[in-house]
Amino acid sequence: MYAYGNFLVELEGIEVINSPTQVAKLSEDYFRFSPILTPVLENKVADLVLRPKTESEVIQIAQACVKHRIPLTVRGAGTGNYGQCVPLNRGIILDITRMQGIKWLKPGLACVEAGIKLGALDRKAQEIGWETRMVPSTFRSATVGGFIAGGSGGIGSILYGQLRDRGNLRAVRVVTLEDTPRIIELRGDDVQKVNHAYGTNGIITELEIPLAPAYGWAECIVAFKEFEVAANFGQALGNADGIMKKMISVHAAPIPSFFIALKSYISTSSHCALVLVAESDLEPFKSLVQEYKGEICYEKSAQDASKGLTLVEFSWNHTTLHARTVDPSLTYLQSLFPDVEKVMEMYRYFSDEVMMHLEFIRMNGKIIPAAIQIMEFTTSDRLEEIIKYHEDHGVLIANPHTYLLEDGGMKAVNQEQLDFKRLVDPYGLMNVGKMRAYL
Ligand code: FAD
Repeated sequence: MYAYGNFLVELEGIEVINSPTQVAKLSEDYFRFSPILTPVLENKVADLVLRPKTESEVIQIAQACVKHRIPLTVRGAGTGNYGQCVPLNRGIILDITRMQGIKWLKPGLACVEAGIKLGALDRKAQEIGWETRMVPSTFRSATVGGFIAGGSGGIGSILYGQLRDRGNLRAVRVVTLEDTPRIIELRGDDVQKVNHAYGTNGIITELEIPLAPAYGWAECIVAFKEFEVAANFGQALGNADGIMKKMISVHAAPIPSFFIALKSYISTSSHCALVLVAESDLEPFKSLVQEYKGEICYEKSAQDASKGLTLVEFSWNHTTLHARTVDPSLTYLQSLFPDVEKVMEMYRYFSDEVMMHLEFIRMNGKIIPAAIQIMEFTTSDRLEEIIKYHEDHGVLIANPHTYLLEDGGMKAVNQEQLDFKRLVDPYGLMNVGKMRAYL
């Protein structure tokens, strides 16, 4: 336990949470999706939580942490999947969610404080005919800062690629943990220094992010008798340049049976595609559905879809959430496939042991199937075997069963992020233990 007496005196006026139950809750994220991470992380708890309202309060906290050598872990909404915001070495949690301001919003661009929720930004942008380019399926609660520091992409990635793609993050303001904390503004390619760095090298307080023209997105589920046809339909829709779409989420049976709220629409044995398509493009979309002999078993207008139930919350890692609600022993993988042919090879090889869930995305100008497969966990050895088999056969696995930054999707040390960490966090206080290169 660190000594917090003087530390807290220096931070008078800043909201502190020290109730053990609340601190424990705010020390968690969704690491329980992984049976490997659960035993390692479930007892990792911070000493207290601080909730700044302004950037100057963030600087005050940074200053006190440096002075007293107290570890600091930034937390957005805590919806990360790999224990990203779990404090491995106690210290404080800096909860950024009170910083929710929009500094400015204009056609194509927004400048926001890091704690604003993606859903809230979307609503504001829509008032001027724009929307966020991409959101995670946790858009209702996830923060913009947390998405940049911990996420990868999501609904919209079929149009705009992933967060790491040049242009998808324009600028960030970062508070350092130097003897005298500074604010550094990163623009252009320099933003990659902190993009997807798990908050190991700076507290992001403000971001400039690009927007997309807003469409009215209709929501449809298309059912298929064969999974191969569903997967090929997903690819064809992704390739159909004349049809605007924001999400193509394809699920092999029995995954749709985990979607309890959609049960009355989808027959138990069918494979299906959950799609967000521009309402004005429904006509060509339906022609494509017909070509692939799919059956539209659910359709919601853009207006209806904007209220209540949305298919977004059955896509990406929400699929895993629904599956685990039905069967908590299920876990998941994250993969990038080169093409549908390779998807089918793995689908046939693993059969029901690895249930196929695809999310089509744009990568370097090409549409490819990413996947968040659902699987029964038996042993760590078998999990490793499955991962290795995929890798040996040309499928990239972004391992979701590790909290180490480099061991997930990156696979290699990011020298630029490491150099920036050495500069801005000379005492190694930020999100301790998450950057392998710095251990
Ligand atoms: P947190 O979980 O609070 O933090 C994530 C990481 O960022 C942590 O390392 C934290 O320390 C760091 N961080 C947070 N704020 C800051 C800051 N201001 N400065 C520096 N570091 C910071 N992810 C996707 O990419 N796409 C998806 O579609 C998706 N779907 C999901 C579905 C479910 C059901 C779940 C549980 C997770 C999903 N995720 C997805 C993961 C996660 O929800 C997103 O990445 C989300 O954007 C994280 O935001 P957050 O505010 O919850 O961040």
